[in-house]
Amino acid sequence: MPNITDEQLWQAVLGEVELSVSKANFTTWLKNTFIVSKDDNEVVVAVPNAFAKEWLENKYHKFILEALQNISGKIEKVSYVIKTASPDPKKFNKINSQKEGSRVDGVTPFSQSADNGFDGILNPNYIFENFVIGSNNELAHAACVAVSKNPGKVYNPLFIYGGVGLGKTHLLQSIGNEILKNDPRKKIKYASSEKFTNELVSAIKNRGTKAFKDVYREIDILIIDDIQFIAGKEKTQEEFFHTFNTLYENEKQIILSSDRPPNAIPALEERLRSRFEGGMIADVSAPDMETRLAILKVKMTEKNFEVPDESLKYIASCFQKNVRELQGAMSKVAATCQFHGLEPNLDNTKKILADLVIRPLKKAITPKDIISAISGFYDVSTQNIIKKGRKKEIVKPRQMAMYLMRTEIKSSYPNIGERLGGRDHTTVMHAVEKIKNDLENNKALEQEINLIKEKLYT
Ligand code: ADP
Ligand code: MG
Repeated sequence: MPNITDEQLWQAVLGEVELSVSKANFTTWLKNTFIVSKDDNEVVVAVPNAFAKEWLENKYHKFILEALQNISGKIEKVSYVIKTASPDPKKFNKINSQKEGSRVDGVTPFSQSADNGFDGILNPNYIFENFVIGSNNELAHAACVAVSKNPGKVYNPLFIYGGVGLGKTHLLQSIGNEILKNDPRKKIKYASSEKFTNELVSAIKNRGTKAFKDVYREIDILIIDDIQFIAGKEKTQEEFFHTFNTLYENEKQIILSSDRPPNAIPALEERLRSRFEGGMIADVSAPDMETRLAILKVKMTEKNFEVPDESLKYIASCFQKNVRELQGAMSKVAATCQFHGLEPNLDNTKKILADLVIRPLKKAITPKDIISAISGFYDVSTQNIIKKGRKKEIVKPRQMAMYLMRTEIKSSYPNIGERLGGRDHTTVMHAVEKIKNDLENNKALEQEINLIKEKLYT
């Protein structure tokens, strides 16, 4: 293991762990952590509070230990102690310098959803300043900014929808953060629809629906993330409907997100649907190449890590549908290169991302496809390929067809022989062997076969 300081070690560990948890969770649980002591096989990690200690011990211990062991195989044990100040805050990483998450509903958070970190706490990283605007999110972004400037007045409710990892939570929380920045007295409630449901259910159990109603109806801004999960839950929808009306009548801002537009949420009560459709609806979609590159550049600056253009383009071309994955890929490249002292050139980038880049599934092809590709490529008729004849100009195309049937669709030798003029399986075996051997020393043949495959698969 290279000689590195505790800080460098912890940075590398955080870089790894960051890949396995959502950004919000990462910020919530791992900021303000550092290594307090380390000997050959044990590392003691400082965490800011008992909450974080519990979470790290119960949920993230495995990731942390694995990451430590990846870097330093000898480490067997990790323990956590509560300790607030970082030993040298200036030297420590950016995560530490971020301000505390703003607690927005004055209630100690108790539930946590997979995506958003603490319900009830706005992630301080989700701000407009670091949100990259592209044609895919322009309208949604503009609507969110407008609402943050004039809550309750312009678009009410504001409904943002779109696929996973496209910035909905980021936008919603940016509104909250922006409003609080301008007026810290504003009461903002941010919750997932699951949290809303859970709170309601436990209020009903404890006969405290009045307290529940009070909390939800005395706030200035209500942000419910992933509202689609409310569908089919009768009691929740009913309660939400009344909450909605009370807030709406009092010109309090309501902001919702969903994975699809209101009219596509099945089992959503009609009266809620029409409420949701009564304000502004904007969608976020997958970013185009240019936007993906811009997002990567922001990430690069955040990480203070230079990546050459060709590597950025490669990353951007591999991760097109989900910004979280796009950023995760970038983090992985940065962490791996920094740790191992590698150049983030195209070669290394490809290697580092190899296991994340899933190749598109090959289109299923048939023997007939192969014969017709061969026929087209060598300009011989399919009849001639299939027929028994021994015309010289047919020999090679036929052998190529045999080879491709064997390698691309794993047909049996007898089967191939059958299809190509009723030849014996040993003839097929020889043909396949011959092409295989020729391919090893014949670059032109290799190119030929690649061209034929291209025809086959596109
Ligand atoms: P969603 O809620 O739509 O599933 P998130 O808001 O959680 O998506 O976004 C996933 C990740 O991608 C977050 O870390 C977020 O900061 C980031 N992200 C998404 N879109 C953008 C963007 N346009 N600019 C910067 N970061 C973005
Ligand atoms: Mg989300």
